Amino acid sequence: MKQNIYTIPLTEALREGECPFCYLLERTERDLIRLYLEGGLMEPDWRGRLLEFGLCGDHLKKMYHQSHRLGTAILVQSLLDQAGRHISGLQQQRKHPVLAGPSCLACSDLAAAFRHYADGFLTTLLREAEFRERAKRSGLCLWHLTEILHFIGSQRRFAKKGLEQQLAQASWERLQEVQRDLAWFIRKFDYRFTDEPWHGAEDALERSLRLLCGIHGDVGGDKA
Ligand SMILES: [Zn+2]
Ligand SMILES: [Zn+2]
Repeated sequence: MKQNIYTIPLTEALREGECPFCYLLERTERDLIRLYLEGGLMEPDWRGRLLEFGLCGDHLKKMYHQSHRLGTAILVQSLLDQAGRHISGLQQQRKHPVLAGPSCLACSDLAAAFRHYADGFLTTLLREAEFRERAKRSGLCLWHLTEILHFIGSQRRFAKKGLEQQLAQASWERLQEVQRDLAWFIRKFDYRFTDEPWHGAEDALERSLRLLCGIHGDVGGDKA
């Protein structure tokens, strides 16, 4: 079941003014939660993975909002039973109980998804001029820019190919555009500028948040 998760085509994720990694990871996250629920209920292997890693609060909440209540309740019951076994094990260790750090299967799978997509993205960026052009118009949020720069630094095959400079330049241009529009957006609140045209800055606040926070900066529709 797992091999079918990371199959969203990269070109589908390149959309004008939207971070491709936010798009890819948001969809992957939704698919993963659906698979955890279906797999966790039907397949012992999946349930084993879920119980071994657990889910963080953020992903439990997403499962609760995205999935049917009975399925979520059955999985949550398994997680509670697992926590009970863990705590009773700790009680039996009289001295210095060994505490495992918190972990989350979804966070871990999403980190693997990011590495998979980052690899494909950078490889195609080096190979195809048209993809480079589309990627530039799409643009990375600052969150994923930092993540991908770290990824490039960790992969010898992407070293010294000018990728960092190329990505930083595209982000710099986008940042300047958003800064200019946000300044005009703020100025429009001054009564002296109320009747001036917007010059496309109506959604500058939403675009600024998307640029800063990526997947978490999507605050919905346009608000002037
Ligand atoms: Zn992003
Ligand atoms: Zn998580």
